[in-house]
This record gives sequence, structure tokens and C-alpha cells, in this order.
Amino acid sequence: MIIQVLTLFPEMFEPVIGSSILGKAREKNLLTIQTINIRDHTQDKHNRVDDTPFGGGAGMVLSADPVFRCLEEIKAKGKPIYYLSPRGKVLDQKLLEDLSSKPELVLLCGHYEGIDQRILDHWEIEEVSIGDYILTGGELPAMVLIDGVARLLPEVLGSKESHQDESFTSGLLEYPQYTRPREYRGMEVPDVLVSGNHREIRRWQFLQSLALTSARRPELLASFLEHQETLTKEERKDLAEFLKTQV
Ligand code: SAM
Repeated sequence: MIIQVLTLFPEMFEPVIGSSILGKAREKNLLTIQTINIRDHTQDKHNRVDDTPFGGGAGMVLSADPVFRCLEEIKAKGKPIYYLSPRGKVLDQKLLEDLSSKPELVLLCGHYEGIDQRILDHWEIEEVSIGDYILTGGELPAMVLIDGVARLLPEVLGSKESHQDESFTSGLLEYPQYTRPREYRGMEVPDVLVSGNHREIRRWQFLQSLALTSARRPELLASFLEHQETLTKEERKDLAEFLKTQV
């Protein structure tokens, strides 16, 4: 997959995309990230890329021309382009899965108060938010999106299970995890996890996931209950028992 990122701060990306799983994905040529510095494409003699907003108001707006020039240079017409923006569709696991199936993505990072609307209209750009809060620029949101997409690419993670068991993949939050030692400062690992009974372990994990999701994200549980097709017979039975305890 190739991800091209238009940004005023390309230097922010290298420490993230060169480290850990993203760095390994790059080494194995599973993922290529190209950063394009918007400032390199300004025609302004003072190197400016922004201007004051028409209609007044605080702050500056990223101008259309340097961004148009960047998009023309990378021949972005026809490619899926996303502008990281608090006004956008909120990023979730489903959207990450859709994005990870595309061979190419172009990401546009805003700064200042935002960007000239004509960029979005002309290039038919979709807006994606990483949550209902305001950051100073689109770079961190772009890195969040890149990280979330990269780990879904085939062969990026060590084993298939690594992302199949995660929170949200099943529609539920993940159950609690423990590792060695079995007893730490007087705190024991739940007996079932060291019982060797895999059926009981899966059952415990499923019930824990249900309880956590119900307590912390009831809206996720409600949507999970509408999509029970993938549950086994045992899981359906456990779910029914669990729901009885909730009334
Ligand atoms: N005035 C804008 C508004 O109210 O929607 C916010 C501009 S923000 C200070 C500057 C840039 O940061 C935005 O253009 C966007 O690229 C990025 N940004 C800030 N918060 C974000 C979020 N929650 N999700 C995605 N991008 C965000």
C-alpha cells in the first residue's frame, strides 16, 4: 500500500513511521509512506501558504494554490483523498478496514483554522476525524489513521489472531489479559486462565467482554446484539444467560 501525506511538517512523521511495526512494514515493502511538503509548492515570494479568512474571524486559512499544486504533482485525480478534520466522519475500526483494502491513499493534513473549502470541493475529498476534540494540526490524526490501517495489512502483524481478537473487531471490548508471574504482589491470575480448559477459557473471555462492554460502552453492546449471526451455539447460550443478569 502507498500512502501519500500532504503536510506542512513532514519531519513529524519519520520517528513514527520508522519505528516498531510501521518501521518493519516499511522494511518489508508492505507499506510506503511518502510525505509531500505543502510549503515546497507555494508560489508566494515569502513562502507563505496561508492567508486571512474571507468574512473575518480568528486565525489563518491554508490557501488553495499550494495544495492544488501538490495534488497535481502527485497526480491525485482518481485516488482516494482524505482530509483529517474534526468535521469529518469519526474514524472507527470499520472505516480502517475499508481504508486498508485500498492500494493507495492520499492524506491531507490541515493546520491553522482550516483549509480553503475549494480544495475539498474540487478534489472531492472526504473528511475524517479522529474524535470530538481539536488538535493543532492533521499530522497526529494522519499518523493515527496510518497506524490503524497498517496493522490490518496482510503480513504486517505476526499472526492472524493478533487483530482478530482485539476490541471492536468482534464488536465487543476486549476481555482482561494477564501474563507471568501467576501471582504478583499477592494478586492472582483468575484460576480459569491456568486451568488448561480452553472451552472454559473462551467462555470466561466472552463473558468478561460482554460485562465490560455493557458497563463501559452500552451502545456497542446494543449493536452487537443486532448482529449475532457469527456466534456459536454455546456463545448464544452464554449471551442469553448474561442478558438475564442485566435486567
Ligand atoms: N477550525 C477547525 C474546526 O473548528 O473544525 C479546526 C482547525 S484545527 C486547529 C487545525 C487542523 O488540525 C485541522 O485543519 C485538521 O487537519 C486537524 N485536526 C484537528 N483536530 C482534529 C481531529 N479531531 N481529527 C482530525 N483532524 C483534526
